[in-house]
Amino acid sequence: MSELTRPDYIWFDGAVRPWSQATVHVWSEVVLRAASVFEGMRGYWCPEESRHYFLHADAHVQRLKESARVVRIPNDLTVEGVLRGVNEMVSALGYREDVYIRPTLYLERGRYTNDADISDTGYFMPVFPVPRSETITTGQSVIVSSWRRSGDDTAPPRVKAAANYYNLRLARLEAEAAGADEAILLNAAGKVAETGGAAVFLVRGGRVVTPAVSESILDSITRRSAIELLRETAGIQVEERPVDRTELYQADEVFLTGTLCEITPVVSVDRLAVGSGSPGALTKALQDAYYAACRAGGGDQRGWLTPAEAVVPAR
Ligand code: PMP
Repeated sequence: MSELTRPDYIWFDGAVRPWSQATVHVWSEVVLRAASVFEGMRGYWCPEESRHYFLHADAHVQRLKESARVVRIPNDLTVEGVLRGVNEMVSALGYREDVYIRPTLYLERGRYTNDADISDTGYFMPVFPVPRSETITTGQSVIVSSWRRSGDDTAPPRVKAAANYYNLRLARLEAEAAGADEAILLNAAGKVAETGGAAVFLVRGGRVVTPAVSESILDSITRRSAIELLRETAGIQVEERPVDRTELYQADEVFLTGTLCEITPVVSVDRLAVGSGSPGALTKALQDAYYAACRAGGGDQRGWLTPAEAVVPAR
């Protein structure tokens, strides 16, 4: 998604509206104290049917509601309500390609309150085209950041709050300064946590390991999908446990999972090649299984996909 991408429309205040009309006042809770929670969801384009299929819509809306609950952002969102907006948006925008959807709840008013009567919740949802990143094929170079991932006792990573991304921004900036694609953050205990947008997996001697959800990570939905596919298509039971930093340097393969980066191979950590320095065989097999499932369209066997209501006609 390019910074320059500005769709013509956005879902805002209960309807599809021109992009320029979606504004908040500078003196609002979201601007002053980052009172906002969000999701990142994907719609996969199905050319045979000229419609999108939305991936894990239920899980994303559930996580959004759970995030809002922890930080007390009152809302009456439902899966049906979110999907109604998504459907109207893809029809209005007419994108005949994969899209990224970012439902966001925020507080306009209501300083530190839990009282729905004196708080004012806003909801917006842009939909962007998402061309496939080249690093999904070539792999990413990562560094281990000197910044630690915030913890469950500070700014809980399980909550997908905009405020958490300040912590992740510092790590991203460090990666950029080091000439790397991405940064892995360690948690307060010095164990591997996650990147700013993905869960981390390691392969060594045919065993697959990933930090447990209690290791200061977002409970990534793609992580769950990867665990499911590894179990069902490769007979591998992923170990969810604390992961040491040095395990990154000794791994045969490292890969990342996230809605945007999908299954992305890591080819170096701190400039040390992972395995042979090119994407590993298990990572590639998992990518194939993941894309087949995401692009199954009407043939979805896993219950991952929800079809868009309307077809998007060619212009
Ligand atoms: N960690 C962080 C901090 C993220 O922002 C994301 C992207 N939502 C992920 C992990 C991956 O989560 P998911 O697979 O649910 O997209």
